Amino acid sequence: MRWSQYFIPTLREDPADAEVVSHKLLLRAGLVRQLGAGIYSLLPLAQRIQLRIMQILREEMNRIGGQEFYLPAINPREIWDESGRWAVMGDNMFRLKDRKGADLCLGMTHEEVFTSIARNDLRSYKQLPQVWYQIQVKFRDEARPKSGVLRVRQFIMKDAYSFDIDYAGLDKSFEDQREAYKRIFDRCGLKYVIVEASSGAMGGSASNEFMVKTDAGEDMIATCSGCGYAANLEKATSRLQDLDDGIGLNFPAEFPTPGVRTIEDLTKFGSGTPADRQIKTLVYIVTRGGEAKPLLVLLRGDHQLHETKLSDNLAGAEARAATAEEIYSLLGANAGSLGAVGAKQKARASGKEIYIIADSALRGRRNMTTGANTDDYHIRGVEVERDIKVDQWADLRTVTSGEACPNCKSGVLGVFKALEVGHIFKLGTKYSESMGATVLTQDGKEVPIVMGSYGIGVERIMASAIELHHDADGIIWPNSIAPFDVIVTVTNMKDEMLREHGEKLYKDLQRAGLEVLLDDRDERAGVKFKDADLIGIPYRITIGKKIGDRVVELFDRRTRTSEDVKIADVVSLVQKLALAGL
Ligand code: ATP
Ligand code: MG
Repeated sequence: MRWSQYFIPTLREDPADAEVVSHKLLLRAGLVRQLGAGIYSLLPLAQRIQLRIMQILREEMNRIGGQEFYLPAINPREIWDESGRWAVMGDNMFRLKDRKGADLCLGMTHEEVFTSIARNDLRSYKQLPQVWYQIQVKFRDEARPKSGVLRVRQFIMKDAYSFDIDYAGLDKSFEDQREAYKRIFDRCGLKYVIVEASSGAMGGSASNEFMVKTDAGEDMIATCSGCGYAANLEKATSRLQDLDDGIGLNFPAEFPTPGVRTIEDLTKFGSGTPADRQIKTLVYIVTRGGEAKPLLVLLRGDHQLHETKLSDNLAGAEARAATAEEIYSLLGANAGSLGAVGAKQKARASGKEIYIIADSALRGRRNMTTGANTDDYHIRGVEVERDIKVDQWADLRTVTSGEACPNCKSGVLGVFKALEVGHIFKLGTKYSESMGATVLTQDGKEVPIVMGSYGIGVERIMASAIELHHDADGIIWPNSIAPFDVIVTVTNMKDEMLREHGEKLYKDLQRAGLEVLLDDRDERAGVKFKDADLIGIPYRITIGKKIGDRVVELFDRRTRTSEDVKIADVVSLVQKLALAGL
């Protein structure tokens, strides 16, 4: 490609509305343009990058026996009703009607369509396992599209699905995908952490996310300094230090606490009650099958609730924080004086049934303090399992940096911001059961197919490569996904000798199988160097004054070092460098 005719609308200044680095550089380097909220056009440079990423995805899916499909992005409502997700997906789903008034949606993911094919055409264990995938556009009406192409409403996903006769088969398919994902991210030049994750709306059991540590991410992960433990904060646990509760009281005792409204207030009130000796009481309203019920969530005073952990423990019911009025009418006190001791009886008096879920860190604790459900009063000497009727124990708290690893003896957990680039799930039989995808076993028994689902966002790979690989001058593409392998910069197009050598080198490099951009623009050398740095081509060959000695300069964008190379040697040298590690 010749830069003079190629569309690379670079910008001199950082765009004002872009916050994360990848968003800024995608705009500045002329890779994308925004069309609407969470809707972007990919310009020619970006399209070249995306195609290279997709090629890597194809190669690695094919290597594990994946078969490429291409399914419709527009789906009839019926299959989404069958799986139950027409209702579950809520506002995130783009819905439309056709001319006959029939409901359709734009696919957010393709479990339903793939399962509908499987149920019609897979009949016997002999046909399994199958690994099916596609590279297809997905639509999600995200609540907060942001950060350039990191969270958009239309994006390209490689989604794969495995179909096995049993769970042992699924374990193998899952492992194959896990290995393929590692190779994909390694080849794309991304440093990543594999974490345990909550399975959320997709349903299913085991799930791993591939996370890139970056402040541009919206997830939080905990990783151990000592062993390989890593988990999304929505799933992470830690080992807590044992606390000495002393003997405690024979029964809980109420005491006045005028003006105390928060855990913090109580740590300073009177002789002070440390936060880890307090019980935090949160009130939620849980809706299941249209029926709303109050829920008390109990945590240690110094711990924070993780809402995903809570919803993962509510078997699909929706939970929301109760309003101040709802709290008062339920317990007769305001937030700040709430507690679970006697709460069930109190609510029952007004005809309400409270459910109590408590964090495991409260198990076995004695001598604790909590609100008395009367404003300005608390109760001390609470022995949790003696004085509170807990309906369900669960891991609900948010792990924080510095806590001990749950997996090894000496490791300490660090908590980091991270960006999810890929997600692999063991779905089990959720979709095959709800949609009736069964096969016959060897003994002629009809069983639901055991499924897995595996997704990677193509734009997210492109943008996270920028997050990880850039400097003050611009992007530094990993060789494998760079839009061009090498750029040939002719310092002065008016000089015939330089121009002719540039043209010849351009052709020679192409003949050697390289993707080459020839900067043949009528610009000053300084401008060309700056632009080349900005768009991040891994190698630049500069044709300048030394051409008289048949010497050119080879510049490495990553190390920012240059060396003089004989023009006769430069093609094979660049070929070797550019193709290394692909
Ligand atoms: P997130 O938690 O970031 O919303 P998700 O859990 O909804 O992601 P999946 O449904 O597992 O994502 O989709 C698989 C992959 O698709 C993700 O790992 C990510 O790379 C990509 N992806 C998901 N949502 C978006 C989006 N709105 N914009 C761009 N890429 C996305
Ligand atoms: Mg999402």
